[in-house]
Amino acid sequence: MHELRKDPLMSRWVAVLSDSKKPEEYVLQPEEVITESNCKFCAGRENEIPYEIAAVRESGSQPNKSGWWARVIPSSKPILQIEGDLGRRGIGMYDKMNSVGANEIIIETPDHNKKPEDMGFEQMVRIIKLYKERVADLEKDSRLRYILIYKNSGREAGTLYSHPHSQIIATPIIPKRVKEELDGAKQYFAYKERCIFCDMMREELRYGQRLIFETKNFVAFCPYAQRFPFEFWVMPVKHSCAFQDIAADEMNDLGLVLFTVMKKLGTLLNNAPYNYVIHTAPNRIPRRDHWHTLGEDFHWHMEITPRLTNMSGFEWGSGFYVVTTSPEDAAKYLREA
Ligand SMILES: [Zn+2]
Ligand SMILES: [Zn+2]
Ligand SMILES: [Zn+2]
Repeated sequence: MHELRKDPLMSRWVAVLSDSKKPEEYVLQPEEVITESNCKFCAGRENEIPYEIAAVRESGSQPNKSGWWARVIPSSKPILQIEGDLGRRGIGMYDKMNSVGANEIIIETPDHNKKPEDMGFEQMVRIIKLYKERVADLEKDSRLRYILIYKNSGREAGTLYSHPHSQIIATPIIPKRVKEELDGAKQYFAYKERCIFCDMMREELRYGQRLIFETKNFVAFCPYAQRFPFEFWVMPVKHSCAFQDIAADEMNDLGLVLFTVMKKLGTLLNNAPYNYVIHTAPNRIPRRDHWHTLGEDFHWHMEITPRLTNMSGFEWGSGFYVVTTSPEDAAKYLREA
């Protein structure tokens, strides 16, 4: 089994895989992206991959057969596995635990060469529906502390499959990056008694120059202090800490926003690689009173980051980002695309 190890200096957990790669595997054989000719995510190859966990299907179609719009399967190369206990233990000064969790793949379209944003906003809504269903289900497992939905699109964004897909990883710890956001939001709330995300959104709506697209229920904008050129966030207008509490009309709206802005991004940057993540609240199990204002101080959102530049030694070494297109200009380009 793979192992989770905690960095005692930074309090950051890392996954160390049990099957170490040899040096030549990095140098001589960079991991191949799986192309259409050997893709098992395409419609018609359902019997060659693990059983589906969930799906949005045409009425009358059978599970694990064709006739689906989008489906969820377990990852064939999981970093975390669903069976077993956490086995938290110390080794000298260090902490480790078993890599218990869940890794799932959401196959976003039956057709290899059709991105969901090419299929209309309804396809986006189907994907969002599956995201919601899976998060709500995984949240019931009390061993799991955090459920992250994310998408890698393009080789440089870390994908192994060229078929449109996104992923879910559920971890037994709260990842450091998420914890930093939760702590920042909690501190702001303790000081101002307001949600920092609601404040941010109000300011963006007032100022307008960083807005990309808005609907009744969602706002897409480039953040004031963005880290990457053309990075943007999508946030629900109504305050809510948990993505999985999204209502049906909000799902339709989010589908429309994603359909619109992802299409703009693709057109503007010639389908450049990108990642997106959904930052939602951790599993709401009370723990040491740490999250008692969570419902009020945290506000779920999506972060979309195109991968246009490589991080330099300065950025790696300092966590200080250099942004080569201002968020005001990026938003203008995206609005006009
Ligand atoms: Zn495919
Ligand atoms: Zn809020
Ligand atoms: Zn975030």
